[in-house]
Amino acid sequence: MHNCEGCTACCKVLKIRELDKPGNTWCQHCKIGVGCGIYETRPESCRVYECIWLQTQRMSRPIPFELRPDKSRVVIGTTNQGEDVVLYVTPDRPDAWQSKAFRAGVLDDLLRRNITVYVSCEDKLQKI
Ligand code: SF4
Ligand code: SF4
Repeated sequence: MHNCEGCTACCKVLKIRELDKPGNTWCQHCKIGVGCGIYETRPESCRVYECIWLQTQRMSRPIPFELRPDKSRVVIGTTNQGEDVVLYVTPDRPDAWQSKAFRAGVLDDLLRRNITVYVSCEDKLQKI
């Protein structure tokens, strides 16, 4: 089973309430591509967060390792209600969710299952 080790993509794209960290900015505690510099005392938001790539690693059909967020450049999350999917991308790779590999490995399946999918780039949310 694959895990987060060496990814750290969510430590950039997501807002972290407790740290006043805005989205699309590296967390000051992040050792980029290595892990959390304050792992033992990291905030609750970080403790509980698992992107959908990570969640599927425990399932019968995990999203491939090649599409882990540091490689695909897409962090897959959900809306607050947990019903809809949000693909978090960064301004340097705003079209990362449109890659052939991401479509074939993730997006096509979501759309086939009639799941509502949004793309979030900086603070702009766009339904696809
Ligand atoms: S984006 Fe997902 S796989 Fe990457 S560090 Fe965050 S939770 Fe782990
Ligand atoms: S505190 Fe650690 S886990 Fe949380 S965003 Fe910063 S580097 Fe990532």
